[in-house]
Amino acid sequence: MMAVVLLLIAFSIIALRSPGLTEITTGRKTNVSKATFLKNYTVHYPIFHDAALDAIISRHTEEYIAHFEKRLAGKNDIRDHLTVNYEANHVGTITTSITFISKETVSGQPDVISSQHLVLDMQNKKQLTAQDVIAQNLSARQTLAKLLHDYFKQAGVVSSPLELVNLLELQLADLHDFSLDAHSLILYLNPHQPSITNAGLAPVAIDKSLLGGVLYDTYTKPDSDVQPADPLVASYHIQSPPPAGNIINPDGRMLALTFDDGPDNLTPSVLDRLDTYQSHATFFVLGHLVDTYKATLQRAIREGSEIGNHSWNHPDLRSLSPAELEWQVGATQAAIQVATGGYTPRLMRPPYGGTNSLVAHYLETHGLRQALWNVDTDDWRDRDAEVIYNRIMANAADGRIILLHDIHPTSVQAALRAIRDLKAQGFQLVTASDLYRYRGM
Ligand code: ZN
Repeated sequence: MMAVVLLLIAFSIIALRSPGLTEITTGRKTNVSKATFLKNYTVHYPIFHDAALDAIISRHTEEYIAHFEKRLAGKNDIRDHLTVNYEANHVGTITTSITFISKETVSGQPDVISSQHLVLDMQNKKQLTAQDVIAQNLSARQTLAKLLHDYFKQAGVVSSPLELVNLLELQLADLHDFSLDAHSLILYLNPHQPSITNAGLAPVAIDKSLLGGVLYDTYTKPDSDVQPADPLVASYHIQSPPPAGNIINPDGRMLALTFDDGPDNLTPSVLDRLDTYQSHATFFVLGHLVDTYKATLQRAIREGSEIGNHSWNHPDLRSLSPAELEWQVGATQAAIQVATGGYTPRLMRPPYGGTNSLVAHYLETHGLRQALWNVDTDDWRDRDAEVIYNRIMANAADGRIILLHDIHPTSVQAALRAIRDLKAQGFQLVTASDLYRYRGM
């Protein structure tokens, strides 16, 4: 009798958990260099406590180490280091998705930062490729191409339908990087510049409900989240129907509020107000603040606002060497991508508006548009909410890009009033990218 009761208790504990899955824990591999006595790699990885899944993870982490050691080629500089971190983006009963973020520092060469997504089949305990998940037939391809094309066309991103179809053909032929969460398929695409290079890929989430006939049946079903996760934040989200209030009337008046130098503790109050008035803004953030305020960034993106790059710590970019410029911009892009699970800013605002042909060329060749302003509220100098509010309202007009800073209480106070009153005057408050798009700027 006792044995039966114990068995029942044991069974109910197992039943409460998802089948075969215990809590994921974190493992760490390091090694110490014989030459420098310093650790030259640190690799964090998830442990599933399941032999088959853990073997997949182990193979994957060993690949990072092998790649790094190959680049070292026996040399051993004190600064050489490999760091691998991971995030569990979705832990479900059907699939689990893990993002590995790696940074290789090898002296004399630029740092290599990469992120890779691993999708696991939790029932069959194996790694899933795109071919396992997406039906490889013409009709599935056409459905997917049409979804992407209609969405990007409406967003004004893709100029020719052919571009996207070509992109999709390339991607499907060699699609390594994708992810699945409870409700969507996430593809990594570059709708601006169809290519299969890794640069500037943006996560595009497509609701599973739209993907009947595209995904195999097992993966069309919504999955459950069996463990809290760090969800991926998509740059584009294709869902049906489009969320209310997100539809821009191209014939109506529109302007863009932009907030520099944050994120800050004040930023959520701006987001609350934008949400109340179904409005969006652009936040040009400093890289060194990104990790501290990552929840705020994720929220801003989720609610349809835009994140732009404002350098790591606000130097005048004109005074920097090429390597310093690369670092100020590149480290900030990487920090934002890591904090948001892959959101890739498309705009960069040079601190002080300080730019020259070198800076402009650098940004252009790195997939970033230089984003200045046409209304300066001088809110950093005049810490008076009434004065700033009046400046915003006096300069409000179609096509205006208004510069503010969400680190000053007076600016935020002014912005909160202005958002309410601009909406009352019929302005659409849009992101800077949307303004460029709709006004051909
Ligand atoms: Zn600034």
